[in-house]
Formats: sequence, C-alpha cells, structure tokens
Amino acid sequence: MSYFSISNVSKSYDDQPALHPFSLELAQGEFLAIVGESGSGKSTLLKIMAGLEAQDSGEIFLEGEPILNPNQKIVSGYDEIRLIHQNFHLYPNSTVEENISRQLLHYEKTYAKSRVEHLLQLLGLNAFRDRYPRQLSGGQKQKVAIGKAMAVEPDVLLLDEPFSSLDTIQTHHLISELKEIFQSTGTTVIFVTHDLDDALRLTDNLIILQKGKVVQKGTSRQLCEKPKTKYVAQLFSPINRLPDGKNSYIRPADVKLKTKGGVLAHVADSRFLVHYNSLQVKLKESGITWEVDDPQRKYEKGDRVYLSWEDSRVMNL
Ligand code: ADP
Ligand code: MG
Repeated sequence: MSYFSISNVSKSYDDQPALHPFSLELAQGEFLAIVGESGSGKSTLLKIMAGLEAQDSGEIFLEGEPILNPNQKIVSGYDEIRLIHQNFHLYPNSTVEENISRQLLHYEKTYAKSRVEHLLQLLGLNAFRDRYPRQLSGGQKQKVAIGKAMAVEPDVLLLDEPFSSLDTIQTHHLISELKEIFQSTGTTVIFVTHDLDDALRLTDNLIILQKGKVVQKGTSRQLCEKPKTKYVAQLFSPINRLPDGKNSYIRPADVKLKTKGGVLAHVADSRFLVHYNSLQVKLKESGITWEVDDPQRKYEKGDRVYLSWEDSRVMNL
C-alpha cells in the first residue's frame, strides 16, 4: 500500500475534459513536481487531491483512508492535506504571528503557542512576527501562507503555483529554503507549476501534464534526453527543426560550430548569455533560422559558420 494514492481520477466541466483519468502513487516524504502550461488541469487535480473539488470518477487514499470530496463530506477539505495557492489568503488585520496562530484556535493553548514559535523560527519569520501583511515583501507573505498551512502539521502539502507573484531570484531562494524545511519535517509535497526551472529546484521527480493528460513521467535527465512530445522537449530548451521536412529536432547545445565542413549558415544575431553566446543563424540552403550555442563566444553577426551534429542527438517528435 502506498502512502498517498490517486487512482483514475478524472474531471470534466460542461462535457469538456479538464483532467483525463490520472493515477499516482507517492511514498511518505516524497516530493513530486507536476509541470504543465496554463489550462492543463493542474489546479483541478490539486483541488481534487485536497478534497476541495468533486471528481467525476476515481478515488484518493491517504494512508489507506479515503479522501472524501465535497459531495461526500459536510466540511470540505482535510487538515492532513493542505493546498497553498498563488493568492496567499492572509488576514490583513492580523500580524504574522496571529495569522499562523489563528489556524490553531481549536488546539490546546500550550501546544498552539509552541507550534507557532517553532514555525516562526523554521520559516525565518521571527523578526517579522508583529508585522501586518502589508508590511511584508512578497516572499515573506508567501512564507506566512506556508506557515498557516503547516500550522496543523499536514502530511501532504499541495503547492499550486505559489511563487507566481515573486521574482525569479526570490523564488529560487525560497524554493531551496522550503525544500530543506519540508525534508526536515518529512512532509510529502506536490508542487505544480508551468515553470520547469522552479520545479527542478525542488525535485527531479517530474510529471508533465498537457491538456489534462500525463504526457511523460521521469527524471529531468530522462525527459530532457528522451522527450516524448515537442512540448516536453521545449520545456528544457528551444529546439531546431531539421530541414528534412520530418519531425526531427536538435537542441541548440547539440549543434557544433566550425569554420568549415557541414551545413553552411550565416550568423544573423548574437546574444551574450552566462555560459555561452546564443546565436541566431540562417541556414543557407533551406533559409530557415536556428538558435545555436556558441560556448567559445567565437562568432559574430555576419560571420559564416558551418553546422554539424550527431544523429544520436536528433529527437524525433
Ligand atoms: P491549470 O491550473 O493547469 O491552469 P485548470 O485546472 O485551472 O488548469 O483548468 C483546466 C481546464 O478546466 C481549463 O480548460 C479550465 O478552463 C477548465 N476549468 C477549470 N475550472 C473550471 C470551472 N470551475 N468551470 C468550468 N471550467 C473550468
Ligand atoms: Mg492553475
């Protein structure tokens, strides 16, 4: 028996499938990221997992106990499974400390107090405990929202694009910090996002969702090297279509640049990026434009360049 089990859960809205039968088995303390573009069914899936939305079919179990949906249960949702949204609902007229402690009103006072202290420490919010939400940065607000969700010691935490309002640097710091915290508390975490980079900061255990269907599962390496669809391939880098008219593609990093021998192209543009120059090159014969990496920063706009690649690096999608 697995710890958190989702078996053939599906959902349609007005006869339009939002989620095709979805199954998943997670072990306790496992992290999983579900990556999908907007409208792929991520939020629907998490709401169903949390018992906040009724599925059309399928079942969910946590430690063997069924998770009931709003049609089956008077008060929907569970303390054991907490969902955190992008719009971190904080009480505007309550301090950081009060926002967290309000979750624990029904708990024994001494326990509640020590739990709040523990969370303020754990999340690095102690110095901000007396501030109101309007006096906090986006990252700090998000931590308070996470503190609220963690107050009741959930077994499973569901994160629904919770970092969308933060900038990239803040997000990356916060995810690394939270990863350590979730590991230390042994929480099982499912993180849904449209951003593969964010997902990979938390875990290498990935499911890719497209139009309500799982298109691929695996590690980052498996998905990057053997993507099953164009969408999966493009999550990792831009891809260049081979001029042979088939659905064959090559990644910018897999194209070798030489001064002679290969497919002739002209450099149309060059951008300086951290690890390489990214070149736009126009292939002479086919006229198509590719994006290729120039790790030695050797070529400039207007240069002639010859392209070659290994067949084993070609992706047929
Ligand atoms: P994501 O979170 O990946 O952006 P959602 O789960 O929010 O995707 O939505 C999946 C699909 O279901 C979308 O096509 C969306 O328009 C539709 N949908 C979601 N919620 C509802 C609803 N309450 N009523 C009707 N359609 C909905
Ligand atoms: Mg969503």
